[in-house]
Amino acid sequence: MEKIYFVGAGPGDKELITVKGHRLLSQADIVIYAGSLVNPDLLDYCKLGARIYDSAGMSLEEIIAIMEEGAKKNILVVRLQTGDISIYGSIREQAEELKKLGIEYESIPGVSSFLGAAGALGLEYTVPEVSQSLIITRIEGRTPVPKFESLKSFAVHQTSMAIFLSIQNIGGVVDQLVEGGYPMDTPVAVVYKATWPDQEVVRGSLADIADKVKAAGIKKTALILVGRFLGHEYKYSKLYDKYFSHEYR
Ligand code: SAH
Repeated sequence: MEKIYFVGAGPGDKELITVKGHRLLSQADIVIYAGSLVNPDLLDYCKLGARIYDSAGMSLEEIIAIMEEGAKKNILVVRLQTGDISIYGSIREQAEELKKLGIEYESIPGVSSFLGAAGALGLEYTVPEVSQSLIITRIEGRTPVPKFESLKSFAVHQTSMAIFLSIQNIGGVVDQLVEGGYPMDTPVAVVYKATWPDQEVVRGSLADIADKVKAAGIKKTALILVGRFLGHEYKYSKLYDKYFSHEYR
């Protein structure tokens, strides 16, 4: 039986898929892609005659049934998902269903949208002496968030944050971050469709970002980046300091 390949499509730009992901996509007999977020231009890489399914209108059972058919026929099935598989990829339930059927799978990483967004801004999340940690999180929505992971509790650290799946509740995000401890003047950047041709960036602070996002009409496919790494303050790293040893360069 052939195994199933979960492939990270990258954040949008069709050149931001890995070489390995591209190879598998171009060889695939069946591609199941997440149509609500994956750039359809990536399907240009598929071979003629490949069967292509948009998972947006499919249930878990339907997705698994197609994977099972492909595995049993020994043909190549690629499950193409946005960004990287390991970040809000809903891969766990698919993997568990495949295990029940005795079907193996392999995950091919992708460029997550938080990396696409940093690239678009030309910024580093871990600016020396400004922030050395990045919190990837979301506000609770239809999917609950475990109680020890509230935005408010993370805000205590005042470090860099990349907040997924939360733009529809930007007001709630700001309230929790401020209650948790970020000062009102903390910089925020909202990146809509990072690396897509219609990418948009809205910059502001916790004081005004909610109004600016509403004025821009951004309601989905956006990341909320928060923290002083977005500001003007920085320190030089020790890495290229001529007075330090060079073992990590
Ligand atoms: N696995 C994906 C995330 C899927 S969850 C990844 O690694 O990026 C879907 C959420 O990801 C969206 O609600 C949005 O917050 C974010 N997202 C995905 N693609 C994006 C993009 N190109 N620009 C900005 N945010 C994006």
